[in-house]
Formats: sequence, C-alpha cells, structure tokens
Amino acid sequence: SLLITDECINCDVCEPECPNDAISQGEEIYEINPNLCTQCVGHYDEPQCQQVCPVDCILIDEENPESQDELMAKYHKIIAAK
Ligand code: SF4
Ligand code: SF4
Repeated sequence: SLLITDECINCDVCEPECPNDAISQGEEIYEINPNLCTQCVGHYDEPQCQQVCPVDCILIDEENPESQDELMAKYHKIIAAK
C-alpha cells in the first residue's frame, strides 16, 4: 500500500479520488488504510492519490512491500466484500 507522510497539508483532494475508499482524515493528517489500498491495482494504471497530491507526500510503504499478485488478490477480496 501507499502511505501519507507528515508533509500532508490536509487539502483533501486525494480522498475522493480513491476507488477503494482507503483514504480518510486521521487525527492530524490524512491516512491510508493499508487493508484497502491496492496501489490502485485493479482500477487504474497509476495510484490516483499520488497523481493529485500537491505536495507529493504519498509514498510507497517500503517496509511492507507487496507484489502485483498480492495487490490484485487484495483488489478481488475488496470487490467480493462489497
Ligand atoms: Fe487509494 Fe489508489 Fe491511493 Fe491506494 S493508491 S490510497 S487505492 S487512490
Ligand atoms: Fe494530504 Fe496530499 Fe491528500 Fe492533500 S492530497 S490531503 S496533502 S495526502
């Protein structure tokens, strides 16, 4: 999944772009739920939130790397639960 760093300025443009509703307002900054973020796999070629963030504070969570197959499996799980 991706994560939002503390550079976030709470501009709110990323939240409505997420096809998985993975982004929400946290206590201080916006947050991404790693269980819902597929890095947009299954929906788009590029992570939509990264495309719109004006301060480029949305990064890959390097500590929890996921393969394309794992991201696609997460996508199918989310769709099945809808
Ligand atoms: Fe949502 Fe895609 Fe951003 Fe993940 S990468 S938070 S799925 S918009
Ligand atoms: Fe924060 Fe970037 Fe989302 Fe704006 S687009 S709320 S700065 S993460």
